[in-house]
Amino acid sequence: MRLKIQSLVVAAFALSVLGAGPAAGDTPTGHGVDVAAMDKSVDPCTDFYQFACGGWKKTNPIPPDRGSWGRGSQLDERNLAVLHDILEKLSAQTASRTPVETQIGDFYAACMDEPGIEKLDIQPLKADLARIQAIDSTKKLAAAIAGLHVAGVNQPLSGFSAGPSLLFRFGSEQDFKDATSVIAVVDQGGIALPDRDYYLKDDPKSTETRDRYRDHVRKTFGLLGDAPDKAAKAADHVLAVETALAKNSMDRVARRDPLNIYHKMARKDLAALAPSFDWGSYFATMGAGTITSLDVSVPDFMKGMDALIKSQPLGDWKDYLRWQVARAASPLLGKAFVEADFDFFNRTLAGAKELSPRWKRCVQMTDGLLGEALGQPYVERAFGAQGKARTLAMVAALEKALRRDIEGLPWMTDATKKAALVKLDGIKNKIGYPDAWRDYSKVRVARTDFAGNVSRARAFEVARQIAKIGKPLDRGEWAMTPPTVNAYYDAQLNDINFPAGILQPPYFDNSADDAMNFGGIGSVIGHELTHGFDDQGRKFDAQGNLRDWWTGDDAREFEKRATCLADEYSGFVAVEDVHLNGRLTLGENTADNGGLRIALMALQDTQAGSSQAPVDGFTAEQRFFLGNAQAWCANYSDEMARLRAQTDPHSLAKYRVNGVVSNMPEFQKAFSCPAGAPMVRDNACRVW
Ligand SMILES: [Zn+2]
Repeated sequence: MRLKIQSLVVAAFALSVLGAGPAAGDTPTGHGVDVAAMDKSVDPCTDFYQFACGGWKKTNPIPPDRGSWGRGSQLDERNLAVLHDILEKLSAQTASRTPVETQIGDFYAACMDEPGIEKLDIQPLKADLARIQAIDSTKKLAAAIAGLHVAGVNQPLSGFSAGPSLLFRFGSEQDFKDATSVIAVVDQGGIALPDRDYYLKDDPKSTETRDRYRDHVRKTFGLLGDAPDKAAKAADHVLAVETALAKNSMDRVARRDPLNIYHKMARKDLAALAPSFDWGSYFATMGAGTITSLDVSVPDFMKGMDALIKSQPLGDWKDYLRWQVARAASPLLGKAFVEADFDFFNRTLAGAKELSPRWKRCVQMTDGLLGEALGQPYVERAFGAQGKARTLAMVAALEKALRRDIEGLPWMTDATKKAALVKLDGIKNKIGYPDAWRDYSKVRVARTDFAGNVSRARAFEVARQIAKIGKPLDRGEWAMTPPTVNAYYDAQLNDINFPAGILQPPYFDNSADDAMNFGGIGSVIGHELTHGFDDQGRKFDAQGNLRDWWTGDDAREFEKRATCLADEYSGFVAVEDVHLNGRLTLGENTADNGGLRIALMALQDTQAGSSQAPVDGFTAEQRFFLGNAQAWCANYSDEMARLRAQTDPHSLAKYRVNGVVSNMPEFQKAFSCPAGAPMVRDNACRVW
């Protein structure tokens, strides 16, 4: 469980939102500004995002199986098509398949066996349901929950998301204050709605969403065989337990401060916080029986959980567990479960209209559960050495620019600058895919047992995480699979990571000129580097230790500038009366602003001394800004905009463009914007 990873884009909240849509025939594969994507009737100084993306937005409606659709989704689709082709071929039982090919091919084949899955009905759930049924005292809750956790009920099926969580999360993490060691961690969890606010807010929209959720839980109990009145009561019990857990949970903004979620303590101190839970039995079943200390991320959550175990009738707990188990398994079961799950989590919450085709969901689950096996044929097919070399050269140019930027900061003292440069020099780059592939050979895969395959893959991942406790840290590990269209900075490893999946148009194009590539992947590299120095990243040192290397005055100066950004973005409207949360998105906005500035500095360095003729009527600077903006072109359903604004630390696409350029005199100069234009902020914010 690595808490301090800052990615470029959100992972979709629910599985089928990730997938879907028609093949992306209009993804630019050319070499420059996509003129057709623009809306030249708009003044770039009034609304640059609309100027760059207006044409694209009009001709790219959201496909029915998604809640949003953007340039990154088009790339997603292309990668899915490549993976689909690979898996279709490998699912045929030929003698020439290698063990890795056999494993992913059979996993995919089992997932595609819809009639077989339909015939099993709720058979795959029966053992878990029996385990829950057998609980006859609250004392035995811990052993039952451990049994479900060790079987991987909390593991995500796909994508870079937190996944479900039954009561709480347990796993391993790099010690915040000792970057060389891996310790156990227990963290809050247990709610199925996307955020604690969904349970606690009383506005009409929140109340309506909760009512729909209650209906969905009731429907799921019906599918498990409950009579209607029993199902309705059970749904009430689930809401009661989850609402109490939500109240005990720390909110997203508070969780952004690593000091708030790090409380290393002796195991007996956890037992004192929550004495009603049988930790001895829990840890033994999890394979962590010998731990003597751990990070209890949110002690108040554990205290509240203890009170809840005492106060809530055992029957309510059993209903809660049945729901969580059914919910985690729903995408793996027959049509009725899959569609009910889609209807609430994707349609109601995220605005998708149709379930994506089965092959896409099967490709995504293969990637999610056996990602570094599937990644092997993917990089062989889709990732060239040329891409790696040119990306590395750009990383070097961006690092040089950030160094110059730090050296020139007027508000920072020399002492802190020196420490910042030590941290910058310590950042490692990981490009494309891991040096050593994860070995999944212990995961048994059968062509006729899809739910069993998933369960074994999930249990393997749980065991892999627990096995790290007390062992030396592996700095080579990746948190994303190679086909992922995303990138991230890891504050605890102090490294930047670019999966092969993102090193393609519109982010990176080998045939494009520097202005376009620096606006695309260059700004992504700048974004990830800047995360090392945002409001979270700045609290970790070059080795990845949570340690304050700032002078008090410099920290105050930083906070003053960060507050400017937080206020700016809190003013942006996502949908109806829902605003972005400037404190939730502060790290990402800091990275967007700093990243684009240093990418431009790096471009200017690279082009110094050579004269750049306009292309398509645009100067190099104009193409840089357009290349960046056009990588963000997107459409959102109202539901998705609302969901993102409430849960996503990234701002919506429009503000990732306009929020940044309106802070940049370099942009205003490139497009000759007059003072007072909307893209020229009076109170321009700048941190880096
Ligand atoms: Zn980011």
